[in-house]
Amino acid sequence: MRSDGDSWDITTSVGSTALFVATARALEAQKADPLVVDPYAELFCRAVGGSWADVLDGRDPDHELKSEDFGQHFVNFQGCRTRYFDAYFERAAAAGVRQVVILAAGLDSRAYRLPWPEGTTIFELDQPQVLDFKRQVLAEHGAQPRAERREIAVDLRDDWSQALRDKGFDPERPSAWIAEGLLIYLPATAQEALFTGIDALAGPGSHAAIEEGAPLPRDEYEAKVAAERADPDAGQRPFFQLVYNEQCAPATEWFGRRGWTAVGTPLNDYLREVGRPVPGPDSEATPMFSRITLVSAAKS
Ligand code: SAM
Repeated sequence: MRSDGDSWDITTSVGSTALFVATARALEAQKADPLVVDPYAELFCRAVGGSWADVLDGRDPDHELKSEDFGQHFVNFQGCRTRYFDAYFERAAAAGVRQVVILAAGLDSRAYRLPWPEGTTIFELDQPQVLDFKRQVLAEHGAQPRAERREIAVDLRDDWSQALRDKGFDPERPSAWIAEGLLIYLPATAQEALFTGIDALAGPGSHAAIEEGAPLPRDEYEAKVAAERADPDAGQRPFFQLVYNEQCAPATEWFGRRGWTAVGTPLNDYLREVGRPVPGPDSEATPMFSRITLVSAAKS
């Protein structure tokens, strides 16, 4: 379970979720018809090795990401959400935004992967050991960012906005923000503070993109946590023990009330839009997928 101020590296606790979604992106990239190709994801998996690399080489057929019931859908989900947020950044850049803030950057490789316009600065926030791992792996491979990239090592449950300004973020200029795969790992109070921080620092012409997951009913959530604890060797990595299962408010409502134009797209709708199957009613992926919304918001 989580505790105030807990921290992690790339293979432990919440840090390993960054590796898990990167592994899914690497598997998506292996398909004949990938929704998106993230060539850096594979480098991270191979740097850690073990099952993280084996699954890419077909040496771990029992890996969670290979299961028909959950894994294959999860890989589609990651391809789908990466494409959604790549398109969001393309729109923000086309609208003239040159400051990008990636909250909980994890192993997000967009600074290296997307064709940023000249003069773009990308601020990446995450826990210090996660940023250390990412920097070391990319440096070993000689990867060069395609924009000015600045790291900010923080706990996003604390006040991070001053650290961002200290690194040169200018609230007077428009910015594009992303919170992808983050909110579920924050308590509702920190989600509220995060939204408030974005709204305070985002000048006119700014954009925000958010992935959110509605919480499970309390009794269902507690049963899932109990099941994970009772059988830690079940082959499933802990998930319910890492999330707070809280939501301060749906992002479309929160930002809408503050003058932003916010549009939410349910994950399952976007899966259909990009031609990937929606998990069936009995699928293990359905409770998760049916709760996720991808949100894009703009401040005029
Ligand atoms: N956004 C990345 C992506 O989609 O590939 C990473 C998502 S990963 C599922 C969750 C990330 O959130 C991890 O990198 C983790 O370190 C970061 N994270 C979660 N809670 C955090 C906190 N309190 N402070 C800083 N980073 C946090």
